[in-house]
Amino acid sequence: MSMEKSSHVILTSHKSEVYKDALPINWGAKDPKERGPVVASISNPLHRNAIGSHSGSYTVYRALSIASGQFPKMHIPDLKNTESTTTIGPQDSWTDPDKFVSIDPWGADVNVHFKDYMEKGYDVRPSIAVTQARLQLPEIYEAIKAGRLKPDGKLINEKGDIKVTKVAFEPVWYLPGIAKRLGIDEGNLRKILFSETGGMFPELVTRPDLKVMLPPIGSTTAYIFGNPADLAKPEVELTCRVHDECNGSDVFGSDICTCRPYLMYGIEDAARTAQKGGVGLIAYYRKEGRALGEVTKFLVYNARKRQEGGDSAATYFHRTECVAGVEDARFQELMPDILQWFGIKKIHNIHSMSNMKFDAIVKSGIEIVNRISIPDELIPPDAQVEMEAKKAAGYFTKGEVKSGDALKNIKGREIDEEKR
Ligand SMILES: [Zn+2]
Repeated sequence: MSMEKSSHVILTSHKSEVYKDALPINWGAKDPKERGPVVASISNPLHRNAIGSHSGSYTVYRALSIASGQFPKMHIPDLKNTESTTTIGPQDSWTDPDKFVSIDPWGADVNVHFKDYMEKGYDVRPSIAVTQARLQLPEIYEAIKAGRLKPDGKLINEKGDIKVTKVAFEPVWYLPGIAKRLGIDEGNLRKILFSETGGMFPELVTRPDLKVMLPPIGSTTAYIFGNPADLAKPEVELTCRVHDECNGSDVFGSDICTCRPYLMYGIEDAARTAQKGGVGLIAYYRKEGRALGEVTKFLVYNARKRQEGGDSAATYFHRTECVAGVEDARFQELMPDILQWFGIKKIHNIHSMSNMKFDAIVKSGIEIVNRISIPDELIPPDAQVEMEAKKAAGYFTKGEVKSGDALKNIKGREIDEEKR
């Protein structure tokens, strides 16, 4: 019966039909009421002032659930007791339209910031959520056993579990700002977003007055060790890792790259800094396989291992480009928005060897003091190819950089395949 109602489709490109009672969004305005809420819920099309819908890539699963009749189409979330477990912001950066283009700084606790609008019937939904957790990690238990970390009954309990605050961010794009970061024309950006998604969002080209889009892409999660308010204080030592997802290594311990070892080392060091009176932050971006995805990544693994002469550091990036068309599709210019949300002005220790990440952070106005590369003993043998290739390509290291035959001689394990 609910299908009957939804079978009548109104095209969103007709301004007179939809978005009629939409509130304006004044991106960068000082007060949330003046800025206005981003209304991307679909319960009332007349109120919408953004393109796309909530939940990032999970939008599509919600649609499946509604289509199958399991999910009530008109459900409006009851946000009682969902407020943040700790107050973060507002920061000065929240009102700088250039500092935020990929998240909504007012996206957390919308039932507080936009209470008046919600009372008037606007279905405003959060795009940021703050909660707390305890981490149980084998590498941290080992660090305690080795004496590198000590339980203190506060940050780390007797069992070795670490207390953290965690924050989830859904992408909210301010299209003029995204275009500016890319250094391209907004109209061009909108046209390419429209055509490359197979025409998924017609308003990108038909409704230039709608400036905000919630794209169906992965989210970001931040883990904070210590007091989140200290992130905004440049005098408090901050240890930070900005990590792009690598599911094979991060979760399953696959040994072809250094992602999990580097991530765990970052967590250990973030916790150590917090125990010394500083603060730690791990920002985890769902940008699998340099934002090319796992299918491309696994194809590249095979192509690397099957090439003449075997997997070698000298041809590491070349093989990716042959399969994917580009070495890296991550575009790190949007990444610092998360750091700006916490009001970060200075990072004392950054766990990253990437110059793209370093440059993007510095360009966003954040000072970086120390760059920390992964310790050699944490690099799995099969990951030497990746590591030496990255160092040769200019990634940050205090160690030796190989070239020529020395680089060619860094070889990965041979492919173990059934002969066909
Ligand atoms: Zn990896």
